[in-house]
Amino acid sequence: MPRECPTERNRKDCTCTYAPCGRKGVCCECLRFHWSSKELPGCLFPPEAERSFDRSLSAFIAAWQAKGY
Ligand code: SF4
Repeated sequence: MPRECPTERNRKDCTCTYAPCGRKGVCCECLRFHWSSKELPGCLFPPEAERSFDRSLSAFIAAWQAKGY
């Protein structure tokens, strides 16, 4: 049974601060877009790292390691 994407709810909950992005709320497209360059979506980063707009795996690991994970 097909499910509808809860785009509006996703958009409301999205923590990505890159305002002009047209993928906001369409999480599957966000993930596909970033992973095609071996990056991760902004919502997976802590807020201060998210704001740098560096979505690379190395930035992700460094940001969370700096927090003790
Ligand atoms: S993480 Fe990237 S694709 Fe996803 S909403 Fe933010 S800028 Fe858009």
